[in-house]
Amino acid sequence: MASDTCVIVGASLTGAKAAETLRAEGFDGAIVLIGAESERPYERPPLSKDLLLGKADRSKAFVHEPGWYAEHAVDLRLGSRVTSLDRAARQVRLEDGSAVGYTRLLLATGASPRRLPVPGADLAGLMYLRTLADSEALLAALRQGGPVVIAGAGWIGLEVAAAARQAGCAVTVVEPEATALLRSVGPEVGEVFAQLHRDHGVQFRFGESISGLRGDGSGGAAAGDAAGSVRQVLTTGGATLEAGVVVAGIGAVPNSGLAAEAGLETGNGVLVDASLRTSDPDIFAAGDVANAVNPLLGRRIRVEHWANALNGGPAAARAMLGQPVSYDRVPYFYSDQYDLGMEAAGVPEPGSYDQVVYRGEPQSREFVAFWLNSGAVVAGMNVNVWDVNDAIQDLIRSGARPDPARLADPGVPLADLA
Ligand SMILES: Cc1cc2nc3c(=O)[nH]c(=O)nc-3n(C[C@H](O)[C@H](O)[C@H](O)COP(=O)(O)OP(=O)(O)OC[C@H]3O[C@@H](n4cnc5c(N)ncnc54)[C@H](O)[C@@H]3O)c2cc1C
Repeated sequence: MASDTCVIVGASLTGAKAAETLRAEGFDGAIVLIGAESERPYERPPLSKDLLLGKADRSKAFVHEPGWYAEHAVDLRLGSRVTSLDRAARQVRLEDGSAVGYTRLLLATGASPRRLPVPGADLAGLMYLRTLADSEALLAALRQGGPVVIAGAGWIGLEVAAAARQAGCAVTVVEPEATALLRSVGPEVGEVFAQLHRDHGVQFRFGESISGLRGDGSGGAAAGDAAGSVRQVLTTGGATLEAGVVVAGIGAVPNSGLAAEAGLETGNGVLVDASLRTSDPDIFAAGDVANAVNPLLGRRIRVEHWANALNGGPAAARAMLGQPVSYDRVPYFYSDQYDLGMEAAGVPEPGSYDQVVYRGEPQSREFVAFWLNSGAVVAGMNVNVWDVNDAIQDLIRSGARPDPARLADPGVPLADLA
């Protein structure tokens, strides 16, 4: 209705796509898209890939052209943080003290990097990677030559490692688990990625964590003297590593404080049902911040991936308009590292599978991996093999229990197995 106002908090991919869908579905009321960052909505995957490699410029990252918001009557308020949510008054309050009323509200506040909790963490040279500005600052730092020490062998840590090696920096990755990507894809495929990086000259220190940072002119990590710029990294294994740049890629924390303070149900994000509705029927949440019931998986899941922002924002918008929504997508993500490109579908975390089947040789870095649980395909990853991810998703969705020998046989079309 023309008198309705949809307010979206968080002006990134989820928020921008939700605004786009509201208009595409014919909503003719007011749309207010409020973002704490000063940039108009942009996508984050390039921040650790082409932008960090210096191969693309920032203009490639934006979701819409600058004029799109005005053309679609989307009131885009940048550099504006929402500080509180008053559900009784149906309004959000901004940092500057002003208030914006809503009939329907979408929380698309995303996630923030987990901070490295060690002495010396306030030294210059310890960097995080979440924003365009972070990416630009890190690229400039890599061009200074390193050495680079990375905390965490997850997706961000490994993509930064690839960019740093390609910038000519010495790179050490410190990771408490036994191999790379362990919690994302398990040890089997995690080790394939670890070997890829070793082959490109990355040093790993598995089974260790960063215990402190020392700066130039510092009194030492133990004394907690954080003056100056980082020069050394101390590890729990007793190593002292020289460092010009330290990047912490140790996970992200959902920005659910606003929701929690307003009394919405939270727990590892904002709790929403399969229509992305929170415990308040007029408030929705999507993207990295949402811990959503996924009917396909039969459980809640908080997905921190681009495709979940791309699809979750529109799904929430449709639910805000009263359309029936059951957000049951197979989680999907992708990564590029050196000359390896991959797409993955499903949730191949340890504990969710009991068998890994390969189609092609993992060492060749051109293969498809399938994770099976009691014979059913629960996840799949195509590495330098293209145009098969939809078929992998169909296989997961079908719940089929294919013969592992046929799954491994490149001559058998995946569509025949679903
Ligand atoms: C460096 C990097 C590389 C990535 N690469 C990949 C990849 O290759 N593949 C993949 O699948 N995924 C990747 N991702 C993940 C993907 O980018 C995220 O899943 C996606 O950005 C989530 O979008 P979102 O809109 O839900 O949240 P965010 O992108 O986190 O956006 C939330 C926005 O809300 C704003 N906000 C928060 N609180 C408030 C408030 N109170 N008031 C106003 N505004 C607020 C924030 O400032 C932010 O701009 C990557 C992420 C990063 C950081």
